[in-house]
Amino acid sequence: MSDNSFNPYEMAQQQLDGVAEMLALDPPTRNLLRDSLREFNFTIPVRMDDGVIKVFRGFRVQHNDARGPCKGGIRFHPQETIDTVRALAMWMTWKCAVVDIPLGGGKGGVICDPHDLSAGEQERLCRGWVRQMAKNVGPLADIPAPDVMTNAQHMLWMLDEYEVIRGERYPGFITGKPVGLGGSLGRAEATGFGVIYTLREALKELGIRPEETTASVQGFGNVAQHAIRLYQQLGGTVRCVSCWDQQDRAAYSFYKPDGIDLALLQGITDRFGGIDKSQAEARGYAILSGEAWIEQKVDILLPAALENQINAETVTQMNDSVRIIAEGANGPTTPEADRFLKEKGIFVIPDFLANAGGVTCSYFEQVQSNMNYYWDKDEVLGKLDQKMTAAFIAVSDLARKKNLFMRDAAYLIAVSRVASACKDRGWV
Ligand code: GLU
Repeated sequence: MSDNSFNPYEMAQQQLDGVAEMLALDPPTRNLLRDSLREFNFTIPVRMDDGVIKVFRGFRVQHNDARGPCKGGIRFHPQETIDTVRALAMWMTWKCAVVDIPLGGGKGGVICDPHDLSAGEQERLCRGWVRQMAKNVGPLADIPAPDVMTNAQHMLWMLDEYEVIRGERYPGFITGKPVGLGGSLGRAEATGFGVIYTLREALKELGIRPEETTASVQGFGNVAQHAIRLYQQLGGTVRCVSCWDQQDRAAYSFYKPDGIDLALLQGITDRFGGIDKSQAEARGYAILSGEAWIEQKVDILLPAALENQINAETVTQMNDSVRIIAEGANGPTTPEADRFLKEKGIFVIPDFLANAGGVTCSYFEQVQSNMNYYWDKDEVLGKLDQKMTAAFIAVSDLARKKNLFMRDAAYLIAVSRVASACKDRGWV
């Protein structure tokens, strides 16, 4: 993160306050939505490979479940904080609401760096997280999923622990499971593809042909890699990708003006999305600073890493060529940067709409797990495209009709759906 004073929870609340004004929400509803319904903050003792017990801190925040059980990923990150998890849980509520799936919002985390943990230590950490949370999660209460630095293997360990505790099989307890063990085909692609389904619709609306566009991507994890694949299939050219280098503890951008070769870069990337610099250089890539991705002369920026990347400081470095920002990450753009983007007339596909493909496919996974009957990949991705396209069109129609910034239109739709559910239940 470039700014130490950045607090994502304050940012999420500030965004909500803006939309609460626009909707003239009554104070009780506003107060309810500004805060989490429930928060869990706990320790997880883990026996490390050397026999020493290390105590980790874990979190789960359930922001709102008026529209259905809470849903959201679990992040493993050394800089995790309760406020980050609170913000992400709130954003999950809006995300599920904007794509109109019957789920609420939650998020979890553990302060840890999986780069430094063996597979066995990670397994014991996952099982420990579930032991602490088993009473308060479940298919009808709160359904976890993967997020930053967690994957299908982590989900399977968590599922197994939950089932050991419950003494029965609960395939709908968690999503993002491995295919063949309760996972859905298409889940791995879902978030990245979802970003591109919305980008495709945005290009249509702006009358731009994808084949004539160029993009710069921040991040090279699961979301970025699948987004790049589908964008390239539509004919787009990715000029630059950035990623985190664990060895140097720094980020770098990899630049190739005629377009990156996705398969080549994937072949020289570690499991956390770190691209090997010397091999890339040998293949003709210019290695630039971690921030250089934002300065590129491209039509589209695709932040797909962490929060607070397009902020008051970095937004001014953006090239005048940029017309669209498709937010693959959660919370990549701060409200200060948003003001600048509004003034410049940049078309922003806001995070909780653009990256809703992951949770939408998680919802499909849960439906399949509960039926214990699994769809083929085309069916999953077809349904995903329909949901994402319908949500994009609803938001962009409202934005056009009321002359709103896309983020404000998405917030209006999502928050009013959640506020109505709270009211209809008689909570406020
Ligand atoms: N972690 C993803 C997100 O931020 C997916 C959550 C889920 O599948 O529940 O949307």
